[in-house]
Amino acid sequence: MASFHEQQRAFFDSGLSLSFSARMQALQQFDQALRTYEERIVAALYEDFQKSEFESFTTEFSMLYEEIRRAKKNLKKWMRPQRVRTNWINWPASSAILREPLGVNLIIGAWNYPVLLLLQPAVSALAAGNTAVLKPSENAPAVANVLQQMINTSFDPGHLVVVQGDAKATQKLLSHKWDHIFYTGSTQVGKIIYQAAASNLTPVTLELGGKSPAVITPTANIALTAKRLIWGKFLNAGQTCVAPDYVLVHESVSEAFLQACVAELKQSNYALGQRHYCQIINERHFDRLTALMDEEKIFFGGQSDRSQRFIAPTIMVDVTLKDAVMREEIFGPILPVMTYVDVDQALELIKTLEKPLAAYVFSTDPKEYTKVLSELSFGGGAVNDVVMHLSNPHLPFGGVGHSGIGAYHGKHGMDCFSHRKSILYKKNWFEAPLKYPPLGPKKLKWIKRIMK
Ligand code: NAD
Repeated sequence: MASFHEQQRAFFDSGLSLSFSARMQALQQFDQALRTYEERIVAALYEDFQKSEFESFTTEFSMLYEEIRRAKKNLKKWMRPQRVRTNWINWPASSAILREPLGVNLIIGAWNYPVLLLLQPAVSALAAGNTAVLKPSENAPAVANVLQQMINTSFDPGHLVVVQGDAKATQKLLSHKWDHIFYTGSTQVGKIIYQAAASNLTPVTLELGGKSPAVITPTANIALTAKRLIWGKFLNAGQTCVAPDYVLVHESVSEAFLQACVAELKQSNYALGQRHYCQIINERHFDRLTALMDEEKIFFGGQSDRSQRFIAPTIMVDVTLKDAVMREEIFGPILPVMTYVDVDQALELIKTLEKPLAAYVFSTDPKEYTKVLSELSFGGGAVNDVVMHLSNPHLPFGGVGHSGIGAYHGKHGMDCFSHRKSILYKKNWFEAPLKYPPLGPKKLKWIKRIMK
């Protein structure tokens, strides 16, 4: 029997995924499948890490439905050749950019938003006329099973298929010649993916992580800052790629900020079984996270229960770059808070770490936040908010440097899974003689006069 990779190559080469109607039908099929399986997926998310129905819908399904709706609404427009101007050297001619699908894609998802991170790129891949093999994370096995059932009973495997497997199986998949690999996960594995892709010159999109800072200046609205920041940090129990990893707060407002955080945490009542707090995904991550907590530096929280894979929202203070919690991406419910006196010092500290996926600045002074935004390099972020920038489909979502390569969401997803083919349409009724032999100083003089 042909492998999924071969089946997809044959399906793509047959042209069955290309037409407007084929893409529209695929998107409709996808939408229908998602609606049919929504309840089963919600149950699987609960089984894997007690993710509540509320968080499941708001952080996974809502964005997916929006992505499908947007793709369907704009597909015709997105598929149209894009006319561009032609420079006069090429006169008489016109020019356009034609969009073509990249072809056969491998999409590898991560466990933390196991539905969204696998299926959102799949929507863009289908809209752009591709085929795709989807590899869900083995760390959210119940979700992986339901997604496999959902996709594999709704689509021709040559078009879209879910293949399960661990790291070893993923490496086997990587040995095929893909037209594009889209990977979401850690920077460390991102390097393995990039190396595997290089042997076939396969283009990659790498959606990675990093330590995303939040800078709080003296002009910030402290109560609102604490509210938004605490929500974004402890969403999904901190297991969010764009969660604020650590805080740098100006010394003059640090006490007020910490008190506001505590008030917010007490009021929010983060506990398992509540509608907004989930488990740590597995024991390995539980052990990794508890090892990052330094008892003496815990300001609030610190409780944990391994049998429940529960870690309470925890704030650490007096943290330095030497602490374990600052030496790796936390990816869990621990918030180290550091203070600064001079914003330049704070920015220098951030710059000693690799470029993060996100950065946030809380300030009501445009001069202050413009300085932070212009001096730091990071994937994307927000002023006076956290996380929410990724919910705006008009903004490309992706990292820079160690936090990733490429971006997607909305039209940017269509771009991510397409090649933009540049075409010059030349007219035949005139041909300038300048570039043809016999060549000589006279012609060169003319060319220089025109082109210098
Ligand atoms: P993970 O363990 O689910 O791994 C991600 C994928 O990589 C899985 O499908 C897994 O099978 C595969 N994989 C793991 N080891 C491999 C190997 N050696 N070779 C080939 N494939 C392998 O997820 P994770 O890596 O723990 O994810 C957490 C990281 O992902 C964090 O750094 C987080 O910031 C980042 N992340 C980024 C985004 C984003 O959109 N940029 C989203 C979510 C998570």
